Parts: sequence; C-alpha cells; structure tokens
Amino acid sequence: MDVALNRRSFIKKFLLYGLSMGATSPFLSSSTQAGGSDGQKAMFFKKTDGNLIQCELCFRQCLIPEGRRGFCRVRENRKGDLRSLVYGKPAGLQVDPIELEPMYHMVPGHKNLCVYTASCNFRCKHCQNWSISQSAPEQIRPLRYTPGGIVEETLKQGCRSISHSINEPTVFFEMMYDVARIAKKKGLLTLCHTNGGMAKEPMTELLKYLDGVTVDLKSFNPRFYREISEAKLEPVLGTLKTIRQSGKHLEIVNLIIPTLNDDLADIKKMCRWVIENLGQETPIHFTRFSPQYKMTHLPHTPIRTLEQAMEIARAEGMKYVYVGNVVGHPANSTYCPQCGKMLVERSHFIMLKNHIKNGRCPSCNERIPGVWS
Ligand code: SF4
Repeated sequence: MDVALNRRSFIKKFLLYGLSMGATSPFLSSSTQAGGSDGQKAMFFKKTDGNLIQCELCFRQCLIPEGRRGFCRVRENRKGDLRSLVYGKPAGLQVDPIELEPMYHMVPGHKNLCVYTASCNFRCKHCQNWSISQSAPEQIRPLRYTPGGIVEETLKQGCRSISHSINEPTVFFEMMYDVARIAKKKGLLTLCHTNGGMAKEPMTELLKYLDGVTVDLKSFNPRFYREISEAKLEPVLGTLKTIRQSGKHLEIVNLIIPTLNDDLADIKKMCRWVIENLGQETPIHFTRFSPQYKMTHLPHTPIRTLEQAMEIARAEGMKYVYVGNVVGHPANSTYCPQCGKMLVERSHFIMLKNHIKNGRCPSCNERIPGVWS
C-alpha cells in the first residue's frame, strides 16, 4: 500500500494495459497533417495602443509586443495578430483508463484518449510532467493532427472520451475547443484537467462542449501559488465557481507536498470553502507527491498525511473523498455516503467492479453525482 504510482510511472507501465484493452499503442503515431508554420489565429485577445496585444485567455492577461510571445510561450504576436503555435501539433495522444485523469465519477473503467502539447501558464516547481509542460513548442517534436483527426483517432482506438491534460490545456485552447465541439457531435464524452487559471469568458465558452472538468486546487494558501507555481489562488477559486454554475461534472485534486502545503488547518479551510461554494458532493482527491523536477529534495507524502486530510474532509461533510497515487488504498474506491456500500471498487487507476445502477446506490437508492452512462 505504500507504493506511489503517479501518471508518469503509470505511462511507463501502460503498454501492457493498453494491449489488454485492445489499444495498438498508448503513444500514437502522426497521421493527419495539420497546423501551418504561421500557427492558428487565437481566440480571446484584443489589440491595444502601440502594437501590443493583450491576451485574455488566462489570468495573466499578458501584454505581448510585436514578434514576442506570452508567458506560456505558445501564443505569439505576429503583425498584430495573436497566433497559437500548438494548434494541430499535439506533443502526444495517449490512451489511458479514465481514472488516470483522475475522473472517478464518469463511466468508470472506460478508455480515454488524452491530448497534450508543450508548455504551461504556471511554473510549478514540483511538476511531474515538466519535460513537456516547461518546454517551448520548438523543444519538442510534435505530431500533426487536425482536431477532426484527433476525434477520428479516438474512435479508432475504441475510446469513449477525450481529455485534454498532462500539460495545461488552457495553452492549447483553440485546439481543445475544436476537438470538443467535433467530439460532442460524434457522441464522445469530453473532459479537461486544468490548473484553473483560465479566464472566465473562455472557460464559459468551453464548458458548452465539456462533460466534466478536473481542477487542481494546489493549496488554499496564496503564498504556495505565488512561490511554488508563480501563479495565483483567486482565479482558480473563480474557475471552480464557474464550473459549478455550469452544471458540468467537477472533481478536485489536491496534491499534498510535505512541508509545502500539508498544513492540516489550511486543508480544513479548503474543505469548508469547497462545501460552501461547490457543495459537499464534489469529489476530492488527496494525492501523493513523489519527488520531481525542482523538488527532488522532498520526500514522498506520508500516507498518514493523506489519511488525515481525508478524515478532515469527511468530518467537514465532504461525501466523496479519495486518496490517490497510493496503490490499493481503500480510499481508491467509491462508497455510498448514505449506507456505506462500496459502489466502485478500484485499485489505484484500475476499476475492478462497478455496482452503481442508473446513477444510484443499489442498496439504498442514494443518487450518486456524476456521469454514469
Ligand atoms: S494564455 Fe499565455 S499568452 Fe495568454 S494570458 Fe495566459 S500566459 Fe499570457
């Protein structure tokens, strides 16, 4: 039970899983040409005086001079036009179980195709995908896929959903938006896993075509956001409220890092805020940190710390509390908050049994929030 398995190590182990699920490979080869050298015209920006462009896609609202890029390194001012440099250029497409997002309340156990590109609008010192998220587009060799080509590949791989994650999908907003719109027409479920830094208007527009969102709530301490992620807490809280108001399914991830955000009083404050603003039925995942990137001097999160966070969340009234990145922990599974029956049995990211019937507990008929069919 004390073995941590994060997304990156899971990816390494995934080939066997992919074969058993009938996928040809978790890493797909390039097939459909897309994306010119000029990039794709971006959405959500305005021109200001003196040839500057203001990008309005995320909380940073970068002012970008002619020929320069925003903080995320993938949006460039070209002669007064903002261009996305990653449209049609995913760094990879990858087939995973949906639980790996993590997304536990959405048709458990189905195959999901994950899309990602280079770069990010945060600078998290602990990022487990830093080799992709902290790279400029030139530093990786991308695939070439149109949004329609990505949807076709999803169907070909027998996946039921498409998620946008691994790096921050805000930075490839235009591609995600087009993929989600096409995917909905083909009857696929659509998801994104975000750091929550997207501005309200694009998030509201995107939510029209999403079924579910996983949001990293990294800490309830603004200092953590400032010093560890070069970001801000407030916009993330705003995004969480926007998603909740949209009625789309929402799950939260709180990666607990020893000494940085493991203060139990902060975790209690966070749980109270979630209950008050998003509701006690919002699933929350307390996940285990493993030493990464600029945080290799820190230890793995003790399992007891994750359990203390879980106990606090439950005591505050949260109904669906999970422990993540700990293989075989009982809190990998979903339990009915009314009668206690185990509803979805999991070991880490593998769904073993699903007892939910028509979105309800088969024992006491309690309605379980999520997308179940
Ligand atoms: S998406 Fe990129 S360019 Fe736009 S505001 Fe955010 S960091 Fe700046």
